[in-house]
Amino acid sequence: MEVVALPALSDNYIWLLHDEEHGHTAVVDPGDGEVALAGARERGWSIDQVLITHWHPDHTAGIPAVVAATGAGVWGPEAERDRFAGLDHGLGDGDRVMIGAREAEVWAVPGHTLGHIAFILPDRAFVGDTLFAGGCGRLFEGTPEQMHASLQRLSTLPDETIIYPAHEYTLSNYRFLAAEAPSDEAVNRRFAEVERLRGEGRPTLPTTIGEEKASNLFVRARDAEEFARLRSAKDSFR
Ligand SMILES: [Zn+2]
Repeated sequence: MEVVALPALSDNYIWLLHDEEHGHTAVVDPGDGEVALAGARERGWSIDQVLITHWHPDHTAGIPAVVAATGAGVWGPEAERDRFAGLDHGLGDGDRVMIGAREAEVWAVPGHTLGHIAFILPDRAFVGDTLFAGGCGRLFEGTPEQMHASLQRLSTLPDETIIYPAHEYTLSNYRFLAAEAPSDEAVNRRFAEVERLRGEGRPTLPTTIGEEKASNLFVRARDAEEFARLRSAKDSFR
């Protein structure tokens, strides 16, 4: 399976998944339909599946354009059905969905929104705004306890699992982590690497769960209290 990052809006990534053997293309969180369609078209691919992690418009606003142009079906969180247009197949925790010839498991990962889901394949995970490289989503709807549990659950994936977040927030995340833990070796190593990548204009994503377990203090937080303190410190960090 080939996975391509399409930069969209100010700092979103729309992920295109292509299975050459079966001629299948899925798009994850098309906040901008034209970007998703152009990204597929220029590769000679045709989108037949839309996967949604949560209702926020920067993840869902492009659904109508993609569906109108391709007739693709739309899979996403049943719990957020009323919050965005175009959901065909509502999903909840433990459900399974075929992405081409591969089966993904759906995990409920509440915190950023209450109905947020992640798509878990054997070797990769599409996590929306739950887990970022060096960070995590803001708690717009959920509690620190919920988000801490969601991150802990994702950290049970094998270390080599490739993680596809929906935003390029990595550099500002590591600025914060380096201020929080100035002598932390893993944070400093990753911070230097991220600065180099961004300096070269390259994406820092995808990441791996092993990298996040090593250098992401939000994932490393031992309990919900430690997590909550970090999250509110990050919310006011400039
Ligand atoms: Zn969001």
